Amino acid sequence: MLKLSQSTLSHAELKIINEVIQEGYLGMGAFVKKFEEELRIYLKTDREIVTTNTGTSALHLAIQACGIGPGDEVILPSITYVGCFQAISATGAKPIACDIRLNDGMIDIPDMQKRINTRTKAIMAVHYAGSTNGIKEIRQIAKKYGLRLIEDAAHSFGGDFEDNKIGATGDIVCFSFDSIKNITCGEGGAVVTDDKNVANKIRDLRLLGVEKDSENRFQKKRSWDFDVTEQGWRYHMSNINAAIGLAQLSKADHFKQKRQHLVQLYINLLKETGIIPLLKIDKDANPHIFPIRVLGEQCNRLKDYLSSHGIETGKHYKPNHTLTAFKQGALSNAELFWEQELTLPLHCNLKEADIDYICCSINNFFQEVKK
Ligand SMILES: *Cc1c(COP(=O)(O)O)cnc(C)c1O
Repeated sequence: MLKLSQSTLSHAELKIINEVIQEGYLGMGAFVKKFEEELRIYLKTDREIVTTNTGTSALHLAIQACGIGPGDEVILPSITYVGCFQAISATGAKPIACDIRLNDGMIDIPDMQKRINTRTKAIMAVHYAGSTNGIKEIRQIAKKYGLRLIEDAAHSFGGDFEDNKIGATGDIVCFSFDSIKNITCGEGGAVVTDDKNVANKIRDLRLLGVEKDSENRFQKKRSWDFDVTEQGWRYHMSNINAAIGLAQLSKADHFKQKRQHLVQLYINLLKETGIIPLLKIDKDANPHIFPIRVLGEQCNRLKDYLSSHGIETGKHYKPNHTLTAFKQGALSNAELFWEQELTLPLHCNLKEADIDYICCSINNFFQEVKK
């Protein structure tokens, strides 16, 4: 079976995990500090970087640290990982779903603007599949309305945006390092911002709100006498996860080249099929998934056909406004997208011959449909 997504691991991860074990402390300590420093170097930025235990917790803490909570609204695209919606509702704020664009899965900007009102405190914009289409305009709109902008860059780590690394600009940018992301920590996340107040608040909130505990832990100390002023969480990263992240970070550019190469191959080979790739070839982007649109109600049949030929596919994502917890009025593009979108395998263990095989199988499916 060709897997939809997978982490790419080697001896490097084993070696550094061994170092953590030799050092003797598996919790949050020197390796986490080092990972945060190396991330800063990789992103070529002197901004604040705070790691967390998941991408979802990074988003949750970013919203809480902005002072957003009950009575507030955060606008985000319906087509995203459910973690985005849960992160907002965990603060007591209400996630407000907006529609998306059919050609790239990104926020439909006019529809987003329609939903801004006096309760709106932030926009959460998703770098769907690794794309940053429309992000420049969304930043301008957030600024104009005085809204916080949390960019969910879970898909786009390693990509560039206007000559900077993604994360080096923008109000608040969140990454995920879960096991199938562009780089992995096993599980992990990070918040990048130049807002020192937000960053310091997140440093406290990730350790149960214990004030300045992050600094102590980096020095192998613990806070015994402290104050807590608000609800905090156990959301910090462990040394083990940070160590895996360090090994992965040193391979990040190599992974990016590979992902770009595979996407290029897909786009070339799918030209004849009538299928619409949702990613364009873009030297800046680090593509995380390879979503396509299949017109004419054939999406599910193609999914089954590929599965029976040993090819795992996915659907990114079930529109969140159709879920019981986040029920909201109809969003026509998001609902059509859900019917037509199919995600083909993309990860660094795939070979050129695998992409060939997948595209041939898609071709064969359409040949058989025609008959
Ligand atoms: C993976 C992901 C997240 C959350 O990350 P976790 O580390 O899995 O909690 C958020 N948004 C998107 C779009 C994701 O793909």
